[in-house]
Formats: sequence, structure tokens, C-alpha cells
Amino acid sequence: MRGFAERADVEEVEGFLAGVTPPLAAEAVGLRDCVGRVLAEDVAAGVDVPGFRRSAMDGYAVRGEDTFGASAYAGLSLTVVGESLPGRPHAGTVGPGQAVRIMTGAPVPEGADAVVMAEVCQEAEGRVEVRGPVAPRRNVGAVGEDIRAGDPVLRAGRRLRPQDAGLLASIGVARVACHRRPRVGLVVTGDELLAPGERPSGSRIVDSNSVVLAGLVARDGGDLLPHAILPDRPERIRAALLAPGPDVLLVSGGSSVGLEDHAPRLVAELGRLDFHGVAMRPSSPAGVGRLPGAAAGERERLVFLLPGNPVSCLCAYEFFAGPSLRALGGRSRRWPHRRVVLPLGRKIASAVGRVDYVRVAVESGRVIPLATSGASILSSTVRAAGAVIVPREREGMAEGQSVEVLLYDEEAPGDEAAP
Ligand code: AMP
Ligand code: MG
Repeated sequence: MRGFAERADVEEVEGFLAGVTPPLAAEAVGLRDCVGRVLAEDVAAGVDVPGFRRSAMDGYAVRGEDTFGASAYAGLSLTVVGESLPGRPHAGTVGPGQAVRIMTGAPVPEGADAVVMAEVCQEAEGRVEVRGPVAPRRNVGAVGEDIRAGDPVLRAGRRLRPQDAGLLASIGVARVACHRRPRVGLVVTGDELLAPGERPSGSRIVDSNSVVLAGLVARDGGDLLPHAILPDRPERIRAALLAPGPDVLLVSGGSSVGLEDHAPRLVAELGRLDFHGVAMRPSSPAGVGRLPGAAAGERERLVFLLPGNPVSCLCAYEFFAGPSLRALGGRSRRWPHRRVVLPLGRKIASAVGRVDYVRVAVESGRVIPLATSGASILSSTVRAAGAVIVPREREGMAEGQSVEVLLYDEEAPGDEAAP
């Protein structure tokens, strides 16, 4: 056993990862599956929406000029010559002195240029009395008022919202080109580990890291492959590193320089260990490497060595694996957390030369540091509202100073009241 000779700076590792995580190639995705995915190419409309002049009201399609002079006291009478319903247009035209009963969303017949709303009309015995004027074009949606054929509707790089998928449906698109989601393999190692769902007993503890990582991978758009918990046996870990399938491997545990820490050596042997040891707290025994694709045509896979301590595992994932997974899927590398800037209620101590990931609470609008050390205390991340990152060059942060908190929750308590 020997310690880390030197530790890389967080920025150095981040810079390296930015260079090796271009968005994955595109694949065609159905509209039900495309929300949250990132478009790989521009989409232009092939059709006008609506493709016909569309009534915006229930009422009567008329020639606007036929209604001029109509009022509540002096209605004008028109002949009702038919009906236009959504999807069932009136076949004929509307001539002078004529009207067609029409519903919202139905095509406005030839000859008519306006729709007078039902509220100012009274129909009886084949005639309608109109008790107010309507100007030409009133209540008539023009062809292409929503989308024009040829319009660019969505650009490459767009993370698709539900309404984007709806718009794609409305222009007749069934599938869109999205960046492939990175396939993520999990390699969980530790002789002491029991599977999630079991009760900890004696010296055995339950593997909580795979549960946390599964949630984070889902958040970041990764596609998690099935995995097993492995003993700290080099041949088992080697086989898991080489199993075909993943674009990215997350190795939990055994990432340091201890006797049972086989993964760094194996990655160095089978591919390259680009970084091992990072100047940060927690997670300093983290590493990053690359392995050649396991099968012909497979891309090189990225390997993240995440320390087994649960807070370190979370922290190393957030700094290195998370941005990489998002970038591979075409998203922003930026941390996805909601951010608030608030004054510190108590100072944070930190050493120059190291990045700290500090779990904090937010109490009465002030940020209270809960823990900087204690990498094994998972409950610190549960009690915390979020994290403050102390940059490498800072020697802590003073009480009262404004700090940015990366919040774990998407909504703050009390947000429910907002629309
Ligand atoms: P390691 O990185 O393997 O040296 O593990 C560091 C600490 O994290 C030890 O106390 C392990 O028991 C614990 N640990 C390792 N893997 C996990 C896991 N998957 N879930 C929870 N704790 C773990
Ligand atoms: Mg271990």
C-alpha cells in the first residue's frame, strides 16, 4: 500500500472529460419517448397548421359585409344553408345573404370571411338573425397561423419538452432524431456488501451506492444496465470491466490505494488510468480512465472510479460522471440543480488547494454548513438542503458572505403555492 503521490485538480479532470464526451450519435425516437431527450438535428415543418381556414368560435360563417349595420335593436336576417363541423366541412359556398352554422375548429366555407359568434345570433326556421356586426377575418384562423410550412420549429440541441413533442405530432412527424442515451454499467465491489433490500447484519452493510447511482443516472438521462455486486476479487472486477455494452462504467468501491482496491490497477492494465486521486473533499480517491470497446465497433468506454464511502460516491459522481453522462446525451454539462444565493450563517473552513463539497441546511434564509468531512455519513446528504462548493483557491468562506447553494430538491418547500 502507498498513498497518492499527487492529486489532480478538479478543473483538470473536468477539462479532460469535456474533451472526451462529445454527444453520442443520433437515433430515431418515437414521440412518446422523446421528452427529455435532446434533438440531434433541426426540424422544419412540412405542412401548414392549420391547413385550412379554421373557425375560432361556435357561431355562423358569414360574409362580414352582410352584417354591417346589425345591432341589438336591428338584427339582420341571413339564410342558413348548411353546417360545418370539425372534420366535416360544409361542401358548398356561402353567398350574399347566407350563413353556415359552424363550430370551433371547423373549416370556414368558401365565400365566408368571418364567423359571428353564437351569442349574438338567434336561429329559427332556416334563418339566423344576427344582432351585431362582424368584421371580415374576425374569428377566422388563417392557414398557417400556428405553423407555416418550411418554418424551422425546433433546433438541434433542444431538450424536448412535452409541448415540443405535441408540436411535432401536430406537423405530422412520428419520430425524431435524438442523441442516443449513454448506456451505463455499474460495477459495485465490496466483500462486505449485501444487496439493497437486505437487512444489515454483523459486519455486513447494505450496498446503498447502487441505489443512489441509479437515481442519479436516471436524472442525467443515462440508460442503466443490469449489474451484480462483486466481491473484491480482481478476476471478477476485470470481467465486469470488459463486459460488452456500456458507454460508461461506474465503479463503486475499491477505488483507492488499499490492498483490496483492484480497479485502478486493472483500468491501467486494460486501458489507461487518466487520473487517480483528485484534490477534493470528499472523494479524493476518485479516478477516471478509459477502456477500449469490448466488442468490434464499440466505442471506447469511460470509467469512473467512485470511492465506496457513500458521500464520496455521490460527490465524485456529481463532479465527474454526471456532467459526462449529460454531455454524451447531448445535454449541458452544467449541474442540473436549482441554485439559490444566500448568506452563510456560519463560516466554512477549507484548505487552499482543494475543492470542498459542503452539505448545508437552509434555515431562515441563511446557509448552515452541516458537514465537510464524514464521507461515510450518508445521512448528512439527507439532512442537507443542498451543497456549497468551495473553490480550490479559497481558504474557507466567512459568516455573512453570500454563497451559492446547489439544492437537492427541484422545488423548495412552500413552492406548491406558486402557479
Ligand atoms: P472502499 O472505497 O471500497 O474502500 O469503501 C469505503 C467505505 O465505503 C467502506 O466503509 C465500505 O464498506 C463502504 N462502501 C463500499 N461500497 C459501498 C456501497 N456500495 N454502499 C455503501 N457503502 C459502501
Ligand atoms: Mg471496498
